[in-house]
Amino acid sequence: MSGRFAPSPSGQLHLGNLRTAAIAWLSARAAGRGFIVRVEDLDRQRSRREHERQQLADLAAIGLDWDGEVVRQSERFGLYEAAIERLRGEGRVYECFCTRREIRAEIEAAPTAPHQLPGAYPGTCRELAPARREELVAAGRSPALRLRGDDERVAFEDVLAGPSGATVDDVVLRRNDGTPAYNLAVVVDDAAQGVSEVVRGDDLLDSTPRQVLLQRLLGVPTPSYLHVPLVMGRDGYRLSKRDGAVTLADLQADGVPVREVIDWIARSLGLAGPDESVTLDDLVDRFDPTGIPRGPVAVPDLRSRPR
Ligand code: GLU
Repeated sequence: MSGRFAPSPSGQLHLGNLRTAAIAWLSARAAGRGFIVRVEDLDRQRSRREHERQQLADLAAIGLDWDGEVVRQSERFGLYEAAIERLRGEGRVYECFCTRREIRAEIEAAPTAPHQLPGAYPGTCRELAPARREELVAAGRSPALRLRGDDERVAFEDVLAGPSGATVDDVVLRRNDGTPAYNLAVVVDDAAQGVSEVVRGDDLLDSTPRQVLLQRLLGVPTPSYLHVPLVMGRDGYRLSKRDGAVTLADLQADGVPVREVIDWIARSLGLAGPDESVTLDDLVDRFDPTGIPRGPVAVPDLRSRPR
């Protein structure tokens, strides 16, 4: 039984990512659970080993530790393919030749129903005629694989967001370049690694019904979910480079030591007073998931704090 943090090594972790990682770690350790870190490097174009090294170093620097070796998704394609084969054996997989642009055009022409996920796949290739398939293959198109989801409605309970759910569309299982898709890989790995609690940014709340359906179809347990409201930049949009010094390296270059980042995380969760200095270990006994603020959190200006 473990909690986990699963960053994609496509850039540096910013304050929001570090705060979410700290919450995931605190929640696991406060409950006496294990904690794992998984590197989600499915996207070979954007993933970099130097980002992975830096991300792990930053997690360690804020006081987070993990059990066992860090696992990389790029080394586990066999497991994902086995899951696809299992779903295929149950008649749940079909080929999809649609490009993103074609899907977008189709969605614009026929808006999705309110209970559907935003950007839900309209099912264009679900019943593709064999002759049309031949044409597409002859034109050099290679298919992605999608789940035949049968428009199932999935409900789950989020620790912070409460009752949540949606009608699940036909989610991609393998992209047309042969890469296993995010939703499938996460479900396979969480199950294989004994993850019983998923804590992550609430930008992934919409992915959760898709993952819960995949868990059911693959016969694996559904973990508990806690989606953390994001840290927002000064312009009210999600935190990014525009907001200046938002990584540990940038902050340290500006004279802000790591311990001030930990103190801010603690204050932002109501776990430390304004002038208190703490470690993540100190917070394990104080942690209370219901105290996590339910709205977005503003990025702090740590550089202007007196020191
Ligand atoms: N790798 C994903 C990300 O960095 C997180 C996936 C997850 O926590 O399920 O956004």
